[in-house]
Amino acid sequence: SAAADDEAKVSPMMAQYIEIKAANPGSLLFYRMGDFYELFFEDAEIASRALGIVLTRRGKHAGADIPMCGVPVERSDDYLQRLIGLGHRVAVCEQTEDPAEAKKRGSKSVVRREVVRLVTPGTITEDRLLDPGRANLLLALARRRASDSAWTYGLAAVDISTGRFSLGEVEGAGLAAEIARLDPREIVMGDALHQDPDLARLWRDTRAAVTPVGRGDVDPASAERAIKEQFGVQTLDGFGAFSRVEIAAAGAVLHYIARTQLGARVTLSPPTRQAAGASLMIDAATRANLELTRTLSGERAGSLLAAIDRTVGGAGARLLAERLAGPSTDLALIRRRHDAVEFLVAEGALRAELRSELARAPDMARALTRIGLGRAGPRDLAALRDGLLAARGIATALAGAGALPGEIGKAARILAGLDEALADDLAAALADDLPLQRRDGGFVREGYRAELDETRTLQRDSRQVVAGLQARYASETGCRTLRIKHNNLLGYYIEVPQTFGETLLKDPWRATFVHRQTMVDAMRFTSVELGELETKIANAAGRGLALELEIFESLSKAVMAESDSIVAAASALAALDVAASHAELAVALNWTRPVVDDGLAFRIEGGRHPVVEAALTKAGEAFIANACDLSGDQAGQILLVTGPNMGGKSTFLRQNALIAVLAQMGAFVPAASAHLGLVDRLFSRVGAADDLARGHSTFMVEMVETAAILNQATRRSLVVLDEIGRGTATFDGLSIAWACLEHLHGTNGCRALFATHFHELTGLAQRLDRLSNATLQVTEWKGDVVFLHEVVPGAADRSYGLQVARLAGLPAPVIARAKALLAELEKGEGAPGRRKAPAELPLFAAMPAAMPAAPPPAPAVEKPDPVGLLLDRIDPDALSPREALDALYRLKAAR
Ligand code: ADP
Repeated sequence: SAAADDEAKVSPMMAQYIEIKAANPGSLLFYRMGDFYELFFEDAEIASRALGIVLTRRGKHAGADIPMCGVPVERSDDYLQRLIGLGHRVAVCEQTEDPAEAKKRGSKSVVRREVVRLVTPGTITEDRLLDPGRANLLLALARRRASDSAWTYGLAAVDISTGRFSLGEVEGAGLAAEIARLDPREIVMGDALHQDPDLARLWRDTRAAVTPVGRGDVDPASAERAIKEQFGVQTLDGFGAFSRVEIAAAGAVLHYIARTQLGARVTLSPPTRQAAGASLMIDAATRANLELTRTLSGERAGSLLAAIDRTVGGAGARLLAERLAGPSTDLALIRRRHDAVEFLVAEGALRAELRSELARAPDMARALTRIGLGRAGPRDLAALRDGLLAARGIATALAGAGALPGEIGKAARILAGLDEALADDLAAALADDLPLQRRDGGFVREGYRAELDETRTLQRDSRQVVAGLQARYASETGCRTLRIKHNNLLGYYIEVPQTFGETLLKDPWRATFVHRQTMVDAMRFTSVELGELETKIANAAGRGLALELEIFESLSKAVMAESDSIVAAASALAALDVAASHAELAVALNWTRPVVDDGLAFRIEGGRHPVVEAALTKAGEAFIANACDLSGDQAGQILLVTGPNMGGKSTFLRQNALIAVLAQMGAFVPAASAHLGLVDRLFSRVGAADDLARGHSTFMVEMVETAAILNQATRRSLVVLDEIGRGTATFDGLSIAWACLEHLHGTNGCRALFATHFHELTGLAQRLDRLSNATLQVTEWKGDVVFLHEVVPGAADRSYGLQVARLAGLPAPVIARAKALLAELEKGEGAPGRRKAPAELPLFAAMPAAMPAAPPPAPAVEKPDPVGLLLDRIDPDALSPREALDALYRLKAAR
């Protein structure tokens, strides 16, 4: 039927939409319709769910309703931000011609539209979309076979918002840790890499948006060309020696930037090389566990970063976060940073002055990028003005401060070397109140350019001339209510009441006034004189705006001509901000300068946990400082920490790891004194608790991670293991923990802290000479445990588990029953520490179901079938999911 035909027909607009959508796969398409961006089909469904906006329908396609939703253009930034935050990519499609033009081509033609920009998490530049205190990294990966079973990865990281560009290379085993350090917003890689099953977990677990691209985008040959083009050079020799995978990754990142910016040229600093081993290696699990930059639940509040960040500017905050994510292993660099902090601790007045100037300096690097991209507004120029003026103030303050330590001296020289004329020119050119967009005009200061002042006077004068003309017409015609008005449709016009209008239509007025419009009770006219005046006014306004835009362009050019020194100044300001932040913190909380050298010392007096202490202080409680000594000559010491739950074991373990991180990032540390030999790798693991909700065995993960530590930790490493083996049945766990300790001691030789509730392990101190015992002191008061949180030598004499259970509110009968069971168990097993070695235990002794009572003797059969025996002992209804999983492992092992 005709109706069905109609429905099947695709409207010209829909046809255009479908074509554009097809050309931009993987992105939500924001399709401009008047004052809205509209989304259709699946995009509309995704966006309406993500943004909580209404899903409606518009017309039909292939006989079905087309789902649609829209966001108003003027509030689109907010919506974009939320979509980007969720990891979506958005293609922004604008009308690229006047609708009138389209009409000329025919009544059915559609306004031409084009995607002008792809907005992706890793390629944004707008202040409103960016987090001021966080780098916004786009990471591209490439790889090459290193051997039959191993890959080498090239990493290219770009922060478009600041132009930073770094390249590096890692072996396959280090890839996850390097990605965790960089913490990118978006990762770009070739399809093959994206589909590698070995990496599936990495892509699933990363917080970044993962973007596969075609093979052509990661091809080394085209990569070299892309880099040469980007930097306008004939050869890459000037950049230093980059490997082929690094070049390939760099090419991929440049291709992707070009694709998303659609031709707008991004200014990037020449790539720097992140040498392998330049920073303290911290894998993703350790980072998460130590809550360095965010807590386990993903928030910044409660992390070490939040506890130590006293910077006053966005660039400083980003640098601090970057240093925390990748503490240095360069002794000289670490000491230079400590020198700077020490200087600013001593110079309180100078520090205060620096910080107040720094607080006034806006984010120059990000403003500079927008200027380079032609996406800037007058406020970006003002950001440079204010930043350069603050830089000048700081240079002056430092010049008067006498001898400066290396880091600060370097910053002072960079700031003093800035071109004074540029700051002055910007200050002279920009008005006090600035509009958001340059096309709004009015941002150039009065008196800056004579020609502009003239046009402005003309505009002002013209308004007076209009007023004069109105007065003259009123008196000549005798109509006192005659007014000259302005609207967008008519421009300037003369308005008189309806009755008077009739008069003007006749002689002699007919010669002067030309009728334009008749309203309900008024008539509108124009006149030759008014028309001429109007042209003059419009010309002056247009001329004025053109002049302002010209001034904007020339200021932008002047800024870009200085971009290298501005980038350097912005980094110098950030470095000062970080040093001052560390100093401020050290003074406020009484932190000290650590001694770092290339030995194997780890000696901390009066150490504290910055985050736990802050929480306790807030609650009006005191933190108990604790010493820790893992120093050794040839190899590190291992401290085995036992003690009741809630005694403070985890806190103690973590605080020592955090002190190492702080020391090597160049900060002072929360301790009375600290002496540590450089740490090359930091490992921290917590034994998995029951967590079957996540759908896989966390115990398995724990063991995989523990294996990585035992395989990778060197003499220089610091290892912190908390309750390893907890996630499995007692004797399994004990034997695993036992064997790990022996391996750490005999093979790795690293400095290590090892917390456990297996008291049996404390006996190992007699055999292993570099292992010693420590415990968290506890005392009893009227039958209740009291935690003293003090670390003392020796082993815990009892676990206090039942007391803690009582404190936690377990019902009294349960506690009583547990006590009875405990007594029975202890009778059967002998005193703690005197159990038989785990290896000698019968297989089924560790079955959860067998735990409460001594196992009955195995039935005497001719050929004992271990699986059958085990199965007989299992009561499926009585098992927890964790026990069931353990039982399965055991069954498999027994087969
Ligand atoms: P464990 O690992 O032994 O179970 P935690 O390290 O988790 O114990 O500490 C439990 C609680 O005890 C912490 O949340 C904190 O409130 C308190 N605590 C730990 N260490 C100290 C300390 N050194 N001084 C004061 N309170 C502490």
